[in-house]
Amino acid sequence: MPELPEVETVKSTLQERLPGLTICGVDLYLPKIIQTPSPEEFCRQVAGKTFLDVGRRGKYLLISLSRGLMLVVHLRMTGQLVYTVTDESRSKYTHLIFHLNNGHQLRFADMRQFGRFWLVPEADIQAVKGMKSLGVEPLGSEFTLNFLEKELKTRRTRLKPLLLDQTFIAGLGNIYVDEALHRAGLHPLRPANTLNPREVGALFRAIREVLEEGIAGRGTSVRDYVDGTGQAGTFQEKLRVYRRSGRPCIQCGKPIERLRIGGRSAYFCPGCQR
Ligand SMILES: [Zn+2]
Repeated sequence: MPELPEVETVKSTLQERLPGLTICGVDLYLPKIIQTPSPEEFCRQVAGKTFLDVGRRGKYLLISLSRGLMLVVHLRMTGQLVYTVTDESRSKYTHLIFHLNNGHQLRFADMRQFGRFWLVPEADIQAVKGMKSLGVEPLGSEFTLNFLEKELKTRRTRLKPLLLDQTFIAGLGNIYVDEALHRAGLHPLRPANTLNPREVGALFRAIREVLEEGIAGRGTSVRDYVDGTGQAGTFQEKLRVYRRSGRPCIQCGKPIERLRIGGRSAYFCPGCQR
């Protein structure tokens, strides 16, 4: 699933291209991807609107349109929102095409069909499912060492599920949680309230570091992720534990292991993570 660095990369690639362009038509092939309003109303309302700005909150893309409208997109597992210059033929996974007034297109493709769109007045953005309860932005000013220390102290949840909880920290997923825990030397099953101050500091720095490096690497492409221009990311080359079970840890040489926790997996090094 695209996580913060991937959505941030889609955001910045689209931000370079969309603002100022107007939607002159919409082809919707899979109505269920539109959460609100009705599919017919969605197509009617976006037609003629101009892209103003592309932002991000957690794993949501926030695309401002003229007339005070906000197009909210969640890519979920395999969604791809790609500015398409050429008149390429539509793949069977392309579910939505915005025709732009410069002759190009913005296409949404999604193999698993879990990605969703909401079109709401900008003032009603909190009504989008999951938006209101989103936790802090881990690269924002509210995410401080102090905040993390205080929050971990009051929680007995194990680190892996806690860090995946979007109502706690917004934007982390399996890849960056596993990578951050490895860099911090923390076992994914450690209860949050057992960390000492040195470990909290290590976790705080590791979360920031993996996200910043992920963005610098233009995201991680292990499955279907591509940016807003269709390009794959490069951070998969830097992964130390995620999807590396059986391969040696780059720090201690012990084979990386995988464990299951509440229906999710965690990759970790039994030598480095305690
Ligand atoms: Zn190790």
